Amino acid sequence: MTTCVYPGSFDPLTKGHLDIIERGAKLADQLVVGILVNANKQPMFTLEERMRIMRAAISHLSNVKIVPFDGLLVDFLKEQGAKTVVRGLRAVSDFEYELQMAQANRDLYPEMETIFLVTNVQYSFISSSVVKDILRHGGDISHLVPRASLEVIESITGGK
Ligand code: ADP
Repeated sequence: MTTCVYPGSFDPLTKGHLDIIERGAKLADQLVVGILVNANKQPMFTLEERMRIMRAAISHLSNVKIVPFDGLLVDFLKEQGAKTVVRGLRAVSDFEYELQMAQANRDLYPEMETIFLVTNVQYSFISSSVVKDILRHGGDISHLVPRASLEVIESITGGK
């Protein structure tokens, strides 16, 4: 059985992330979405909230599971019995960081591979940071996050 891991902060999940999850799920028998417990920055949504927001959006995907993780990605891969990481690329600006991470990870775990999925052009400007900025200022995020996730986000933020 091939297992791929799609790691990220998902603070919160966006339509761009969901697109990568749906496409990644077709590439493997099982896709493990690894949610970073301790994101570098203080997250807007707690781990529990980020998991609820994601769970609402992936109920149609039978081979996707959500697993929180902390520490090195390569250790998480080994724990999950996976040798492949899926990441999304939006722009050249993502590439520099992603290349470095992919190389650092392979340095630690030479058997692994990172697969980059190129963003669907309609989602290329969407990021969790943009969603959070709009949320903080009371703007409309309904076109940026999956519909099922929107309801959960609104229940957490009180629709403010
Ligand atoms: P991280 O904090 O690890 O960058 P993110 O949750 O921001 O985690 O993103 C996780 C992955 O999803 C990254 O590979 C990122 O490039 C990708 N991603 C984020 N937004 C989009 C998008 N709109 N389209 C495609 N991929 C995306």
